[in-house]
Amino acid sequence: MSKEVAILRYGHRPARDKRVSTHTALVARAFGADGIFFDTTDKELKVNIEGVVERFGGPFFVEMGGSWSDIIERWQTKGGEVIHLTMYGLPLPEVIEGIKQSPKKKLIIVGSEKVPGEIYQISEYNVAVTNQPHSEIAALCIFLDRLFEGNAVRGSIQFKGAKLKIIPTARGKRVMECNS
Ligand code: SAM
Repeated sequence: MSKEVAILRYGHRPARDKRVSTHTALVARAFGADGIFFDTTDKELKVNIEGVVERFGGPFFVEMGGSWSDIIERWQTKGGEVIHLTMYGLPLPEVIEGIKQSPKKKLIIVGSEKVPGEIYQISEYNVAVTNQPHSEIAALCIFLDRLFEGNAVRGSIQFKGAKLKIIPTARGKRVMECNS
């Protein structure tokens, strides 16, 4: 499987979605994606995500602006495929093996406001993480966990350039400062 995996957060609204979009990006990073595109610009959001990358390591890119259709077209023109997470799609267990076997780089779309019908048509896969309405954060988290076969929760993703590293402990908090 190609290692290049990015997220497109469709329709982020700076006044309403800051917290959910931040968590979407943090899940993307923690669970092994390479970066996230937003089709709107929110400088505060970018600074917050990049602050986490600076402290806890990367690489993880945050790209803002440009229309969703341009982002998708650019991705597909460069040989990538698009996976749209939606409760209306095919169940994750039915499609995940095919997605893992495809060598193409993957752009995973999650919505905030209503996703236009065109995205359902141009996506190579519309994937449901259950056919019930819930959350883009949860859907992305479970999708990435299945895609990367549990690597993140096993702790086997390497983050580079971190200033801080958490030392797992049964009680309390242990954080090590790294000299990189
Ligand atoms: N109201 C919006 C609409 O009608 O399209 C959806 C809001 S939902 C909270 C935001 C995003 O979460 C969706 O666009 C989708 O990407 C994701 N999502 C929610 N439930 C999902 C599910 N069961 N499977 C996959 N993705 C899901």
